[in-house]
Amino acid sequence: MHSDLIGKIEKARRYAQEPERLEINELKMSVRGDNDTTHNVTLNDGHWDCTCSFFHTWGTCAHVMAVQRLLTPVLTPKAREADLAIDYQRELYKEEEAASLV
Ligand SMILES: [Zn+2]
Repeated sequence: MHSDLIGKIEKARRYAQEPERLEINELKMSVRGDNDTTHNVTLNDGHWDCTCSFFHTWGTCAHVMAVQRLLTPVLTPKAREADLAIDYQRELYKEEEAASLV
């Protein structure tokens, strides 16, 4: 084997053992939920999305959280924060409640 390629393989092994070197900036995955329903999870610049209805209400879901758990070592700090999305939804509901009281 060419010595240059051997050097790259050795470097790749070292990089793979140091996940802090990697960051996923964009991602598209399918997650098979219960009942064999497949949902598409995407990540773009730290923003998650999922095709399930729960995500559109709450800003996170079991599919996104499963991917976050699996990929935590290689996600940006922003992409790791599932609770931020939930807090964001709570703030929206507070604003909607306040608006309905007026
Ligand atoms: Zn989902």
